Amino acid sequence: ETVINQIAAGEVIERPASVVKELVENALDAGARRIEVATAGGGLNLIRVVDDGTGIPPQELPLAVSRHCTSKLSDDIHDIRSLGFRGEALPSIGSVARLSLSSRTAEGDAGAQIVVEAGRTGPVKPVAANRGTTVEVRDLFFATPARLKFMKSERAEAAAITDVIRRVALAFPAVRFTLSGTDRSTLDLPAVPADGEGLLRRMGQVLGREFADNALAIEAEREGVRLTGYASIPSFSRGNALHQFAYVNGRPVRDKLIAGAIRGAYQDVLARDRHAVAVLFLALDPALVDVNVHPAKADVRFRDPGLVRGLIVGAIRQALEEQGL
Ligand code: ADP
Ligand code: MG
Repeated sequence: ETVINQIAAGEVIERPASVVKELVENALDAGARRIEVATAGGGLNLIRVVDDGTGIPPQELPLAVSRHCTSKLSDDIHDIRSLGFRGEALPSIGSVARLSLSSRTAEGDAGAQIVVEAGRTGPVKPVAANRGTTVEVRDLFFATPARLKFMKSERAEAAAITDVIRRVALAFPAVRFTLSGTDRSTLDLPAVPADGEGLLRRMGQVLGREFADNALAIEAEREGVRLTGYASIPSFSRGNALHQFAYVNGRPVRDKLIAGAIRGAYQDVLARDRHAVAVLFLALDPALVDVNVHPAKADVRFRDPGLVRGLIVGAIRQALEEQGL
């Protein structure tokens, strides 16, 4: 079982940032309004995620860290409203690190904690806890030293963690995110309304006021695929594509098709080595897209890639043309 979980961990948990992504998604699935992330040593020494979500009842803590136990599976695999659904993240993390899960629900249960170290699960113990869940991951990959060797510098891992939080934070403006710890990168993104105005303010927090104040609004719809968001005027271009944020049905994705469409839209107005800044949300029937090609890679596969590409290129070009750009 531990070995199976370690193999799964190889898929799901590539690096500290993957742990942060999984834990933050769990907190969001639990309805958290406030998510605090603390790290040390680029996340290799410590990752702590504190949320104020629904919490986990004491008797369910052993299930939460068991393989393929998820409270989120719906009958229709395409109809995935929550971010998680495989029940793989916590057991995977527990198989390669020291994991502790402390939680308390609103229903008056006392707080309880469970610890998993290198796949060995301890008993549920009472613990003082606020409502919500605290997950602590220490010594990531200590149980799989070969994996540890593949880690980049602490600085690079810390940067990847910051990127994960910025990406998810743009899709959840009403949630407050903080990132702190021994790593230099810190973030404090106060909650803003979950509407268009809120999105602009969250974009200001994440990407800077100058971008938010000058970005072109993008909006288009074709054959049931809806595109909304913002894209930079050409003078706000950057030297890399790190500042492109794409979401499919609210889930952060990294996708070559979307990146290629953005490049195509700007090809007449940006030099080849320049990249637009963009925050794009695609909403479509979940049956028309597979967002789970790979558990950790955030790839997507559209049923009709040409439609999606055309929609993005067309909408951005139109916004540029309307500004005479
Ligand atoms: P999944 O998210 O795919 O269900 P995980 O291994 O990430 O699988 O989590 C297992 C289960 O533990 C979840 O289904 C959920 O019931 C519970 N859980 C994990 N993290 C939290 C959290 N922060 N708040 C409430 N419940 C949680
Ligand atoms: Mg999960």
